[in-house]
Parts: sequence; C-alpha cells; structure tokens
Amino acid sequence: MKPVEFQVTMTPCSSQPILYDEAKCIGCNRCAAVCQCDILLPSAETGKHPVVMYPGECYYCGACVMACPVEGAIRLSHPLRNRAKFVPVRSN
Ligand code: SF4
Ligand code: SF4
Repeated sequence: MKPVEFQVTMTPCSSQPILYDEAKCIGCNRCAAVCQCDILLPSAETGKHPVVMYPGECYYCGACVMACPVEGAIRLSHPLRNRAKFVPVRSN
C-alpha cells in the first residue's frame, strides 16, 4: 500500500485569549462559572481575578466577557485568524 503524506500548516493563535484588568476586576468569579470549557479557575486569593488554566482550549465564545458585571475587567484577545474582515466584492 502506498503511504499517504499529510501536511499541516501552523496557525497563529493567541497564547493569552483572556486578558484581565486587575484594577477593575472585583473577583466575583462569574466569568469562571459561565465558561463551558472550565478554562478559568477561581483564584486562591479572595477578590482576585480567576486563573486562566487552559488558554489553548478557549474557543472565544465571549460568554465570560458577557457575564462580567464590570465593564473592561475582562476582554478577549482574538488570534490573527479570527480578525479577518470580509468585504463585499464590487461587480462591474
Ligand atoms: S471565551 Fe468562552 S471558552 Fe474562552 S474562557 Fe471565555 S467563556 Fe471560556
Ligand atoms: S466576572 Fe468580571 S469582575 Fe467577576 S471575576 Fe470575572 S473579570 Fe472579575
């Protein structure tokens, strides 16, 4: 049987999908509670933001950001591949 070769290209991704603002976060852990992938774990220190345990598993659903009661306390850092813009092509 003839061997089959597969080629895989590297995809740029964000190693820090979740960014916290320590000055704004009140440590309520709502973001950790809502994450379906259990990427965020509550901090051992009361009042501190959760720990991003498995950044590579985040699929950027945004649920953690939407659940946060403090604007700007948490935000997503999308990888390059998610930032592509689709613009309409003009036909002449
Ligand atoms: S964006 Fe979604 S998957 Fe990623 S940490 Fe937030 S809730 Fe979890
Ligand atoms: S939901 Fe917002 S305020 Fe609460 S722990 Fe997460 S980032 Fe901090």
